[in-house]
Amino acid sequence: MEVIFLGTGTSQGVPMIACRCDICTSTDARNQRTRASIHVVMDGLRVQVDAAPEFRLQCLRHGVDRLDLFILTHGHADHITGMDDLRRFCDLRGGSALSIYATDEGMSRVLAVYPYAILDRPIVQGYPAFKLFKMPAVLQFPQGTIRSTLLPHGGIDTLGLVFEERSTGRKFAYYSDCKGVPPEAMALARGAAAVVLDGLRPESHPTHMSIDEACAAAQEIGAQASYLTHLTHAIDHATWSARLPTGVHLAYDGLRLRL
Ligand SMILES: [Zn+2]
Ligand SMILES: [Zn+2]
Ligand SMILES: [Zn+2]
Repeated sequence: MEVIFLGTGTSQGVPMIACRCDICTSTDARNQRTRASIHVVMDGLRVQVDAAPEFRLQCLRHGVDRLDLFILTHGHADHITGMDDLRRFCDLRGGSALSIYATDEGMSRVLAVYPYAILDRPIVQGYPAFKLFKMPAVLQFPQGTIRSTLLPHGGIDTLGLVFEERSTGRKFAYYSDCKGVPPEAMALARGAAAVVLDGLRPESHPTHMSIDEACAAAQEIGAQASYLTHLTHAIDHATWSARLPTGVHLAYDGLRLRL
C-alpha cells in the first residue's frame, strides 16, 4: 500500500493570508501546508480522500494521474472545494462517472454545490459526473477493504477510514477532522501499520484534537507509526518533530508512506 499526503494543513493553510509569523515565513518546505487530503493506492486501486481547494495543484505536484473512487470525509469547505477538478479524472476514465462515497451530510453538501455533476456520465467530454453513494461500514474490492466509522467533529460526524490491502494484509487508518477517537474507531484502527490523526495545534479546540489529545489517541491505538495532520501555523515542523513521543510524527505535504 502507498499513501501520499497531498495536503496537511488546516482550513486556512500555511502560510496564512496576511501573517508574518516565524512559521508562515519559514523556508522549511515542511511548514508549507495546503489543505488536508490523502491519496491511497491499494494494489493498484487508487482512492482519493477529500478534494482540497488546491486539489488540482496537489495532483500535478505529486503525480496523481488516475482515480478509481473518491471518498469525502465530510462536507466542510476545505475538503469539498476541489471536487470540480475531479472532471479531469472522469475524462481519463473514458468519460464515465466517478463513484463518490460520503455521509448523509457530505452527500447533501455535494448535491448543493455540484448539482450539475450528479450524472451517469459527463454531458460533454471534460465535464464532471458523480455517482453518489452513502459510505457503507465496509467497502470490498478485489484489492482490499475500506472500513468506515464515524468521528465527532463539532455539530457533524466525519468519516474515519481504515484501509486493508488484500495481498499484504497491511492496514492504514485516516482519522482527520475529529475532536476524539471513539472506542469503535480505536478498535477498528488496532493493528494498523500507520494511523493519521487530527493534531490541529498545541492549544485545545472545540472541534479538533490538540497535539496532546492526538498523542494520547495515538498511544491508545498503538500503531507502529502515527502521523499528525490538519496542522495550523502554530506548529514548526522541526521544533515539534523533536518534541513528539516516539512513534508519533508530523505529516507534511508530499510525504509518502509505503506500508
Ligand atoms: Zn502565521
Ligand atoms: Zn478540515
Ligand atoms: Zn472539518
